[in-house]
Amino acid sequence: MAQQIKAIRGMNDILPENIHYWHRIEGTVRTLLGRYGYNEIRMPVIEKTELFKRSIGEVTDIVEKEMYTFDDRNGDSLTMRPEGTAGCVRAAIQNGLLHNQTQRLWYQGAMFRYERPQKGRYRQFHQIGVEVFGMDGPDIDAELILLSARLWRELGMESMVTLQLNSLGSADSRAAYRDKLTAYLGQRKEQLDEDSLRRLDSNPLRILDSKNPDMAELIANAPKLTEELDDESKQHFDALCRTLDAAGIKYEINPCLVRGLDYYSKTVFEWVTDLLGAQGTVCAGGRYDGLVTQLGGKESSAVGFAMGIERLAVMMQENGLGGDDHYPDAYLVQVGERAMQQGMIVAEKMRDALPGLRLITHCGGGSFKSQFKKADRSNAQFALILGDDEIDKGEIGIKPLRGGEQQLLTVDAAIEYLQQQI
Ligand code: ATP
Ligand code: MG
Repeated sequence: MAQQIKAIRGMNDILPENIHYWHRIEGTVRTLLGRYGYNEIRMPVIEKTELFKRSIGEVTDIVEKEMYTFDDRNGDSLTMRPEGTAGCVRAAIQNGLLHNQTQRLWYQGAMFRYERPQKGRYRQFHQIGVEVFGMDGPDIDAELILLSARLWRELGMESMVTLQLNSLGSADSRAAYRDKLTAYLGQRKEQLDEDSLRRLDSNPLRILDSKNPDMAELIANAPKLTEELDDESKQHFDALCRTLDAAGIKYEINPCLVRGLDYYSKTVFEWVTDLLGAQGTVCAGGRYDGLVTQLGGKESSAVGFAMGIERLAVMMQENGLGGDDHYPDAYLVQVGERAMQQGMIVAEKMRDALPGLRLITHCGGGSFKSQFKKADRSNAQFALILGDDEIDKGEIGIKPLRGGEQQLLTVDAAIEYLQQQI
């Protein structure tokens, strides 16, 4: 046998047995965002490398060590998108979506980062992202948080996630804070790990985002950005908190929450869980008012978030939130030459009459016993049985597979019966 070719490390197949978790998440998000008036946008998976360098920031984990970057046949440097915001902003500018308009957009798709693969952290992963342009008040920040909170409720996850909030303030207040933080950390250089030493001059705020437990205490005692906030950012943040209070959304203010990308300002937030070990952030976002101009557009405020579908799918799986609406309603067992032909016709008739019916027609022959076993394994609610006897009488057998007596019904009566049951 020829040697098998395996998938790339950290890039997973999503198998049929798990796809219903994905469908549930994607379907719920799509409906929910439609209810709030958000429109989907689809961007290319590959963009010019420059786009990510300029938006995410040169001194970030993503740009420094996680991007899949390559030269195409023309020698242009291209990158597989590590996140969706940069491409979404690029697309919005390029297609004139920001010209005197507000936009509520969302997207979903694969992202690529060269990270160390582990549970909840992969090299190809999938995000659903939401980006809003042209609204600068705290009301839209609140809307994003309220709609994400509704999503957790609709997925049955509200007790599994908590909200962390912070404000990064304006560029000016961040610069003032940066000096304070650099002074504090500079006096404690011996406690900094290698990454943090490197960031001390280039991007000290990112040190607060370190996942290294050895640095946790140093970070906890560092001066707080919240104490340096400019008036406008402070009012914005207070108004957001008041709206969340009034809406009954619980949150924790986390002064160390700085987010891993450079483009954020004012509000930042993360929904976190303690059910996934170290990979605890399931949804993260914030305001990034400066990014549109940074990418060559006219000034437009912006706020958004992205969530990782893999982490949500694992949480659903591990907490029994799969539901059973992905199982078939019925499995048609058909034994004998005539039944095989007639079965296809009966099945089509049922599908015409019951568009909601999930019906598997057995194909490929086999004994009654082996077909019935397949019906059982399919997790269907009913087995439908068609043999020569049934055909002669113009009837069909219906057997509830989770307990109950078999009945013989005319096809029309069977359709009526199924209509009531599914
Ligand atoms: P983390 O702190 O976990 O590295 P991040 O700050 O790099 O996350 P973002 O870039 O904000 O993450 O992406 C938003 C969400 O996308 C994360 O909260 C997470 O759910 C998901 N995500 C990010 N990186 C990965 C990955 N490598 N594999 C799977 N999901 C990921
Ligand atoms: Mg990361």
